[in-house]
Amino acid sequence: MKKFELPPLPYAYDALEPHISKEIMTLHHDKHHQAYVNGANAALEKLEKSRKGEMEIDYKATARDLSFNLAGHNLHAMFWPNMGPNKGGTPGGKIADQINKDFSSFTAFAKEFSSVAKTVEGNGWAVLAFDVSTQQLFVVQLEKHNVAAIPGLRPVLVLDVWEHAYYLDYKNDRAKYVDTWWNVVNWDDVEKRFAEVV
Ligand code: MN
Repeated sequence: MKKFELPPLPYAYDALEPHISKEIMTLHHDKHHQAYVNGANAALEKLEKSRKGEMEIDYKATARDLSFNLAGHNLHAMFWPNMGPNKGGTPGGKIADQINKDFSSFTAFAKEFSSVAKTVEGNGWAVLAFDVSTQQLFVVQLEKHNVAAIPGLRPVLVLDVWEHAYYLDYKNDRAKYVDTWWNVVNWDDVEKRFAEVV
């Protein structure tokens, strides 16, 4: 069985300060992301044992565990490189053209993305994703890591709005975290992902 692995952070734990603290990045990457990797591997192990007749499993619960944890792993694996030190600003290249085309302006896009992120009920994500069938970008909301996901959309930019992503720095002020987060968006990474899915 192939196992999922925690990818290393592509920068130092304190690289996103003062916007996101070293303490949050360390806990978020080493504990939370690692837990999703472990959870996905544990679900796969259960399925493997079941297939070999070594274990009776609850298929519904195991499928749910796999979905929740694997989606959590994949989202975090995109979230880290979507950010970077000395980033932020506005995008260039083809992603900028597509944003202007689909949202009318970068300002309108940023307002929509921020509003979607701030209004996620409970824990979840805001996601900028490309719909291949209609060749347009959408901003969508995810609850937890996997609820309300739209199959077929290709995510290019994701923002984690679980409390574990900001509580140590911003307490319950998610809006302040979302507004500050724009300072660390790595548009080069978003542009690269967009080029792969367009
Ligand atoms: Mn998270």
